[in-house]
Amino acid sequence: MMSTEGKKIWMDGELVDFANARVHVLSHSLHYGVGVFEGIRAYPTSKGTMIFRLADHVRRMLSSAHIYRMVCPYTAEEIARAIVETQAANDFSPSYIRPILYRGDPALGVKNLKGRVSLAIAAIPAKKYLGANSETGVRAKISPFRKPQSDSIPSFAKASGNYLNSYLAGIDAAEDGYEEAILLDHRGFVAEGTGENIFLVRENRLYTPGLESDILLGVTRRSVQEIASDLGYPVIEKPISVNELLTADEVFFSGTYAEIAPVREIGHSSIGQGTPGPVTKAVMNVFYRVVHGEEPKYASWLTPVPTAPRAVARPARR
Ligand code: PMP
Repeated sequence: MMSTEGKKIWMDGELVDFANARVHVLSHSLHYGVGVFEGIRAYPTSKGTMIFRLADHVRRMLSSAHIYRMVCPYTAEEIARAIVETQAANDFSPSYIRPILYRGDPALGVKNLKGRVSLAIAAIPAKKYLGANSETGVRAKISPFRKPQSDSIPSFAKASGNYLNSYLAGIDAAEDGYEEAILLDHRGFVAEGTGENIFLVRENRLYTPGLESDILLGVTRRSVQEIASDLGYPVIEKPISVNELLTADEVFFSGTYAEIAPVREIGHSSIGQGTPGPVTKAVMNVFYRVVHGEEPKYASWLTPVPTAPRAVARPARR
C-alpha cells in the first residue's frame, strides 16, 4: 500500500507543509477527473539520490496535458527543476514522486475551462507496490473489466479519470485475493495491469502489447525494451491473446511503482515453473543496477538530486 507521509508539497512555486496542501471542493478536476499526472521514482546511488528518467516523465505529462487541452503554465525545464527541488526538500530515498497538473479553482460545468491549470508535486517514501512477493512472483487474475477504447478515453494520456477503470479492476482482483489484475482490450487481447505494462517471454523472446491494445506507453516498459534488446533478446510488440499469456515461459509486469514484478500465477494457471524465469531475472538484474547507478551505459537515465535543499529560482507562471 502506498504511504502518504511526506514533508513538503510543491504547489505552484511554493513548498507547502504536507498537511496544508489543499484544493477547493468545487475544483474542476475533482468533479470531472481532468488531471494529468506522473509517477516517478528516485533511488539511492553511490553518488546520492537520483531520479529515474525524469525528462521522459515530464514529456509524457505535457503530452497528457496537451490531449486534455490543459495549457501548462510551466516549461518542461521548470517542471523538472521543481521536481528536483521537491525531492530535495523531502529527502526520502527510495522515493515516489507524484507531479499532477490539475484545475483546482472552483469551476463547475464540464466544459468550463476558465480556471487556472496548477501544478503540485509530492515526494513520499516508496514501497513495493505489489507487496512482499514483488520479486519472487505475484498472482494476478484476468479482470472482468476491460480497458476503455482509446477513441473514448485515450490510454496514451496518464489522466486521473483513467484510473476509475484501474480502480474497478484493482479492487476486484484484491477482493478475490490476487495481487493484481490483468485487463484486456476491447478486442479481448491482453492490455496491461492497473498500473503496469505486461511482458511475456517465449523461447527467449519478449512480447508486449502495443498502443493499439489501449495501453499507457510506460517509461519502465521502454526501459525494459532497451535493456532486453541490449542483452540480446528480441523484443516484439504485438496483440497477445490470453492463451499465449497463460502458456508463456515467463510473464512480468513493468511500472514505476511496481518496478519489475514477475507473475507466477494467472487465475488458476501457474506460469512457467511458478518462479521468476531466467530472462525475467536477467532483465530485473540489469534494471535494478541501472536505477541504483551501477550501469554507466545508462547513466543518462538518472538525474542527480542535491543533498541539501537548495535555493531554486521560482518559475513565474506564464
Ligand atoms: N499502465 C498504467 C495504466 C499505469 O498507470 C502505469 C504506471 N504509470 C504503467 C502502465 C507503467 O508506466 P510507467 O512505467 O511509466 O510507470
